[in-house]
Amino acid sequence: MIKLHDKYFKPFLREEQILAAVKSIAQKVAADYKDEVPVFVGVLNGCFMFVADFLKEYPYACEVSFIKLSSYQGLTSTGIVETLLDIPDNLEGKSVIILEDIIDSGRTLKELIHLFNNTNVKEYKVASLFYKSEVYNGEYAIDYVGIDIPDKFIVGYGLDYDELGRNLREVYQLNQKHMINLVLFGKPGAGKGTQAAFLKEQYNLKHISTGDVFRYNIKNSTELGNLAKSYMDKGDLVPDEVTIKMLQDEVEKHSDASGFIFDGFPRTVAQAKALDEFLRTKDMKIDATLALDANDEVLIQRLLERGKVSGRTDDQDESKIRNRFEEYNQKTAPLQAYYESQGKFHSVNGIGEIEDITRRLAKVIEEL
Ligand code: AMP
Repeated sequence: MIKLHDKYFKPFLREEQILAAVKSIAQKVAADYKDEVPVFVGVLNGCFMFVADFLKEYPYACEVSFIKLSSYQGLTSTGIVETLLDIPDNLEGKSVIILEDIIDSGRTLKELIHLFNNTNVKEYKVASLFYKSEVYNGEYAIDYVGIDIPDKFIVGYGLDYDELGRNLREVYQLNQKHMINLVLFGKPGAGKGTQAAFLKEQYNLKHISTGDVFRYNIKNSTELGNLAKSYMDKGDLVPDEVTIKMLQDEVEKHSDASGFIFDGFPRTVAQAKALDEFLRTKDMKIDATLALDANDEVLIQRLLERGKVSGRTDDQDESKIRNRFEEYNQKTAPLQAYYESQGKFHSVNGIGEIEDITRRLAKVIEEL
């Protein structure tokens, strides 16, 4: 996968496949025009690699020229075709083969046909390396076609996404895979970490636990760890600005993930708002908040048990646990209303066998 500007693209056509298609077009054109000197007119900018490789494969005498039109802006065709570099004026009586990198809707082709109809060339033909038969309007015959491709945005081998990607030897396709971003919600001990470990495998997601990131930083005595330690030791929440920044850094580090499970974040309405805002800048969003329901007494027993094995000091002292619940009730519980108002809050019974709870969560995810 590669990233250009804000978008991800996955490999689509290998260099050998492209070169084989170029060669095949050159051979067909050569068979038709070997007895004359045709003029190949490349349609800039996207055609430059195609024209260069085409000419290397063309074995007979020929001329070459370029024309420049523009119709794409970003990912979608604007429908406006401008002539930026006009047809050469010495084409009289010559056979012209227009070399296009790609034909999709046919809008640019229409403009080309219009331009060449007004010239006194002997004849003109159209060759396109890539061709989207699904969306082509079929108005004019395309004389030579390289590869018929699905209607997905592509880059590479001369084609760009906002000017990037033209230098790639292969062709890449926009990765439109739907991301799933989940918030796991619930009191300490509700089983968020346990369930996240299953869900991340099942749905190929990146699991971010802010508690784990803080503990990692404490263990490595980083500045962030030293700062967080005093709050965590008491069972208080670490201040929002510190936590939000840390969370954003974690997401940035895994920008190629196919989705995230946020575990232990957000824990305040300010964090939830910051998360929504941050995801929006990445063209991402939270798809669902999954709440694991369990009553306090069950959770306290679970946490004290966990404390014996994990060594987590905040799990070993009942008063610290009760303080974490207090923090939850005051600061985190209001998030339920926040996500309910967005229609994203799903509550699941968090008591029972681990795999049963995973199944309950998976059912919600699959219905999203
Ligand atoms: P956890 O492992 O999720 O139970 O988190 C352990 C501790 O890390 C919490 O009691 C807080 O002190 C701190 N912490 C984890 N996530 C957050 C968060 N989103 N906001 C503030 N503090 C957090």
